[in-house]
Amino acid sequence: MSGRYVVQTFGCQMNVHDSDRMEEVLRAHGWMPALEVEAADLVVFNTCSVRERAEQKLRSEVGKLAPLKKRRPELVLAVAGCLAQQEGERLLARLPYLDLVLGPDNIAELPALVRDHIAGAPPQARTVFDLDSPRFLAAAPRPGEAPVSAFVTTMKGCDERCSFCIVPTTRGPERYRPADEIVGEIARWVAAGSREVTLLGQTVDSFRDERLPPPEGDDPDESQFPHLLRLIAAGVPDLLRLRYTSPHPRHATRSLALAHAELPVLARHVHLPVQSGSDRVLRRMIRRYTREEYLERAGRLRASRPDTTLSTDIIVGVPGETEADFGETLSLVREARFTSLFGFKYSPRPGVPALRLGDDVPEDVKGDRLARLFALAEELGRAHLEGLVGTTQQVLIEGPSKGSPRTFSGRTGQNEIVHVELPEETFAVGELVDVEIVRAFKHSLSARPTAAGLARLPRTAQRSHAEKRRRLLPLVQGEAG
Ligand code: SAM
Repeated sequence: MSGRYVVQTFGCQMNVHDSDRMEEVLRAHGWMPALEVEAADLVVFNTCSVRERAEQKLRSEVGKLAPLKKRRPELVLAVAGCLAQQEGERLLARLPYLDLVLGPDNIAELPALVRDHIAGAPPQARTVFDLDSPRFLAAAPRPGEAPVSAFVTTMKGCDERCSFCIVPTTRGPERYRPADEIVGEIARWVAAGSREVTLLGQTVDSFRDERLPPPEGDDPDESQFPHLLRLIAAGVPDLLRLRYTSPHPRHATRSLALAHAELPVLARHVHLPVQSGSDRVLRRMIRRYTREEYLERAGRLRASRPDTTLSTDIIVGVPGETEADFGETLSLVREARFTSLFGFKYSPRPGVPALRLGDDVPEDVKGDRLARLFALAEELGRAHLEGLVGTTQQVLIEGPSKGSPRTFSGRTGQNEIVHVELPEETFAVGELVDVEIVRAFKHSLSARPTAAGLARLPRTAQRSHAEKRRRLLPLVQGEAG
């Protein structure tokens, strides 16, 4: 039994990645994407539960479908992802129109569950972790349709016990994908046309594989992640850029910095979540590093190659955070010289250890701290971007921009977004282009190609260029066909 599906994704990159696997599993069973929910036989909401707002959003989205479900009771509504794992059967009780609840480790079972439901099985929740034989769904890149920048899972779950975080509950304990499978999947993406890969994991740098040599160095937090990076660099020589997210600062050891110094394929940018700049708060968060240790590790990564940039995640208003603690966070943001950051207001999550500490920072204080954090991030980000005006950078072009028809956008190795206008006779998607930065905006740069950069770009016949643009533009503008 198959039909048409819609998968709606909330939350982080890992959820986007899980949704892609869900679609592949459905397509392998004969399902086809629907252009709109009205035309769908199955709607899957792939959810996040890291903050409460994501949960509220799910309720409102499911609520919007209630009239449709009343009109067409045969429409199957499923909730997948972290919130599904966290709530399980309770979701079925709370959302009466819901038919299926599916945990992140049960994606492969989706087509069979939908088939059984259509055949008359009652609503059910499948939220079982695959602890005994971890399963990593292999991506199925389709030649010609592979994105310039692809994501590859290297591990799942999390063994950290950060007091604010629900991820260990919703994603289970750490399980690692075998290194040879990871290298094989990256090679398939590159063969299908991808040029950049981002390795994905909750603590991506805690990687283990008993078939790899033991960790280097005497730091007890050393992992085999640097070995994995070397294996990828050697095994997929045509890969242009390698990124990873999110590393835990504990495993950002000396050997990781050495790998950065040694492997040109690694982007000169690391997203290293710090969460707070106050030792007192870091202890309460159970982050297992001090401010000084973080700065040392971040500094080593920044120094591994010239112009390496750092970005981070920060939570404001965790229980007991004082104005002085927050001041320490602001000073760390300056000291670590982050070029961008994600900031969040603390959101109490069910069952996390921090619940015992209450939620004593008033909402308006959280809002004020977040606004001040963003103002500082903007000041630093703008100064960084303005400092790049007049420099030459290499940009990996990811696709056409929304603006003028000849403007393309991509990112530098340091992760700045760059818009560049290119002549009609060139075709640059997936190419590394040398550009001169001409202007800084709030979050991006504009540039023009250098003469040498332009000369290296492949030329396409006018007609084929136009055809390629016609195929690419709708992807960006969100139109059909
Ligand atoms: N595993 C990664 C780590 O902690 O290094 C990130 C996982 S989480 C999807 C992304 C970010 O959400 C975290 O880095 C943190 O800043 C934020 N976050 C997690 N739990 C939160 C909570 N209870 N309230 C507000 N923000 C939270």
